[in-house]
Amino acid sequence: MTPVIALVGRPNVGKSTLFNQMTRSRDALVADFPGLTRDRKYGDGDYEGRRFIVIDTGGLTGEEEGLDAEMARQSMQAVEEADIVLFLVDGRAGLTAGDEIIADHLRRSGKPAHLVVNKTDGQDPEVAAADFYGLGFDSVYMIAAAHNRGIRSMLELLLPEMDEAEEDRADRYPGIRIGVVGRPNVGKSTLVNRLLGEERVVVYDMPGTTRDSVYIPYERQGQDYTLIDTAGVRRRKNVKEVVEKFSIIKTLKAIEDAHVVILVIDAREGLVDQDLHLIGFVLDSGRSLVIAVNKWDGMDPEERASVKEQVRRRLDFLDYADKHYISALHGSGVGLLYDSIQDCYESAMAKWPTNRLTAILQDAVAQHQPPMVHGRRIKLRFAHQGGSNPPVIVVHGNQTEALGGDYKRYLENTFRKVLKVKGSPIRFEFRSGE
Ligand code: GDP
Ligand code: GDP
Repeated sequence: MTPVIALVGRPNVGKSTLFNQMTRSRDALVADFPGLTRDRKYGDGDYEGRRFIVIDTGGLTGEEEGLDAEMARQSMQAVEEADIVLFLVDGRAGLTAGDEIIADHLRRSGKPAHLVVNKTDGQDPEVAAADFYGLGFDSVYMIAAAHNRGIRSMLELLLPEMDEAEEDRADRYPGIRIGVVGRPNVGKSTLVNRLLGEERVVVYDMPGTTRDSVYIPYERQGQDYTLIDTAGVRRRKNVKEVVEKFSIIKTLKAIEDAHVVILVIDAREGLVDQDLHLIGFVLDSGRSLVIAVNKWDGMDPEERASVKEQVRRRLDFLDYADKHYISALHGSGVGLLYDSIQDCYESAMAKWPTNRLTAILQDAVAQHQPPMVHGRRIKLRFAHQGGSNPPVIVVHGNQTEALGGDYKRYLENTFRKVLKVKGSPIRFEFRSGE
């Protein structure tokens, strides 16, 4: 399961630069949610196939008082929720009082942190780092983020720690992992209770830490599941913590850790920008998606028609995802969610032999030839599976880099229909070999 890496440090030490290098494969996810500062950035990274989430905490000044107090509090919350903390310092500026205060905070938080000395370009890295050894960190990395130097070897050395964060949870949570995500107050807790109580379920005892979502393994009709509850229903003491209990880090982690994500929308409010943001996170992750439009009880027919029209219009790009109109409070429609979850899981984990994929590809090509480029027709020869959750189909041919979006969509639709892939995206990779 996906480790979270938090970047902390004074302003200007190079956190954004490092963030951009670590998340280069994708656009940074910048989110504006209630209770979170705008400048906190979240991104997905990938090192040698190992996925992780990076948070740029937006900068601790080391001065806890006054205007910065809120930002500092939020940065420390990010530290609390992270698996790995990278404390950045500026190798040109040398050690400052701010660095010492931050180091002290980190020590008191009890979180193991690594010291990263940045801007070591144009000087002897060992000399640049010498100033900081007194801070007392066990591991020190020397990098030049702006020149993409030292970052890969740092990630290489962090791999064991990332693997540990992964294995910790992967073993304990069997079966189909269902992430329940959504804005505050859309009904996630109510739905989690409903999903658990729907049938006679056996909820196993599970240890929980305060920083994580609650992972609830259970069994239903002979199938193992683990619910990933971002609202923390079992720990919840009072209803006042509405904003507190919502955390983007938890949400991103729940999405990454899930096989199937149930995104809950409040029908009374309709689709809002934050819902679309969250859908964007799910699409980026490649996880299967089921939309649950909740609080469908007690709405009059016109209101219902207008919400359905809005969903149809704004989510038409999500035609592969099932949409359910439910009442978590009364339980209506909740049983049907399990059918979608099952379909999604089977699609996400399906394995297809190369000869089957190749036959589908060749039929698709025979029905509808790829275009000509420079007087030669693009050739698609065979296909094999490159991964699961989401399924990846690798297509081999010639000049595949010239294939247009229309033709790719045609292929995706054809494969989706023939393979009966429901709820899960399919990723395609095209390779040319001549
Ligand atoms: P943040 O405030 O901690 O997010 O810092 P930024 O990433 O915005 O970087 C602050 C400044 O330091 C920018 O002008 C960067 O170009 C510069 N910088 C970042 N990394 C390096 C580096 O490795 N070497 C040098 N020389 N400058 C860097
Ligand atoms: P969360 O913050 O997403 O976990 O939302 P909660 O599950 O705490 O629900 C927020 C509020 O919406 C509570 O007052 C619930 O009783 C109410 N609620 C949840 N589901 C439904 C529903 O299906 N219908 C109605 N009418 N209210 C609901």
